[in-house]
Amino acid sequence: MVSMNPADDPSQVRTAQSLVSGARRVVALTGAGVSTESGIPDFRGPDGVWTRDPDAQRLSNIHDYLADPKLRRRSWQARLNHPGWQAQPNAAHRALVTLARSGPLRAIVTQNVDGLHQRAGSDPETVIELHGTLYETECLTCNEHRGMREALDRVAAGEADPPCLVCGGILKSATISFGQALDAAVLSRARAEVEACDLLLAAGSSLSVHPAAGLVGFAAGNGARVVVCNATETPYDDVADVVLRGSLGEVLPSLV
Ligand code: NAD
Repeated sequence: MVSMNPADDPSQVRTAQSLVSGARRVVALTGAGVSTESGIPDFRGPDGVWTRDPDAQRLSNIHDYLADPKLRRRSWQARLNHPGWQAQPNAAHRALVTLARSGPLRAIVTQNVDGLHQRAGSDPETVIELHGTLYETECLTCNEHRGMREALDRVAAGEADPPCLVCGGILKSATISFGQALDAAVLSRARAEVEACDLLLAAGSSLSVHPAAGLVGFAAGNGARVVVCNATETPYDDVADVVLRGSLGEVLPSLV
């Protein structure tokens, strides 16, 4: 769990509350920090997977994944034991459900692959998974998509690096690794939502992965107000109208 800064300045919280309550179209851009309070570590936060073990970055690199069978076997063990299978949505996910029910939240553009926004009750039609989902596998040769459970059962039964059942190709979770392009249709849907919003709420992201992070500058450039909620500094703090540093499980409920 990240060590949080002390409570945010109440006047900043009030400014953020009035921006949210005055907005007509809100888009939330979420990252791994939204799910740390559910027990899923982020990558770059103080207790992040990569902060603790920089070598773990190779697991998320498509070139290493394709070239190194040993790394693939390690990836499958990591997927089998992923904390996401036990995780439950937390107060931050639920706050965004509340914000959608009360009106202004039109879309959640998420970098997360854990499905927790949907499990919290956010309408799946409004959740745009920029970096894919852990709940499916994809074949890197024939592009066949199947449920993750089937592959994990094969791993648990002794197939250390299960090949595609259709073509024998290399399987991976249907998530975007470094070196892979985002799905163009998904990205263009996210950009359209951001272009139409009058408030972008960026929560739990180091805003260091592009093109997702660039959506913040895109929103600001279009005249939208920007609220950044993140425990640590981001490169977009300067373009934000308000920056809140507290724990998201407290900050997001306070804004809705
Ligand atoms: P990141 O690790 O780069 O940044 C997370 C940020 O959240 C950090 O800056 C950290 O300080 C902040 N944070 C963590 N817990 C917080 C809390 N409780 N309250 C407030 N702030 C908190 O994550 P990112 O920007 O999403 O980018 C990394 C990539 O990692 C994404 O592509 C994403 O797909 C992937 N990822 C996803 C998950 C997931 O699905 N839950 C988990 C790890 C990584």
